[in-house]
Amino acid sequence: MEDHISEETLEGYSLDQLAEGRAGQIKQHLRACSRCRVALEGIEPFNSVHYTVDGPVYSRVTRLTTGKVMARHWGVDLWGGKDFTNAAAARRFLSRSFAQMFPEHHGGDRCGPIKERGNARFRLTRRTRPRWR
Ligand SMILES: [Zn+2]
Repeated sequence: MEDHISEETLEGYSLDQLAEGRAGQIKQHLRACSRCRVALEGIEPFNSVHYTVDGPVYSRVTRLTTGKVMARHWGVDLWGGKDFTNAAAARRFLSRSFAQMFPEHHGGDRCGPIKERGNARFRLTRRTRPRWR
């Protein structure tokens, strides 16, 4: 087995900043390596999805190697993110900004925390790379 995934690479993976080929390698490694899965879960204290009228909207909190915490939403036609000094503030931002974007959405049966990753259907392209607001 190849070496374990570095903190920097895990961070890039969590933020969907890796090139597609590299992200695919990481995904395969994670499937086979529980140690790296645990490390990834450790930097992602929050991962959820809401099935809205506009399609699924994913939300994730990522602890950065800089000590800051990134909060992001993404969906078919939606990107937004912001960095915070702690995970609690990042989660508050996600729930508040989601409620502003989808005031009519009160959560369905399938909405909530997820283990599976939401990036597969919405691969980032250069064009859709998030702009932090
Ligand atoms: Zn590993």
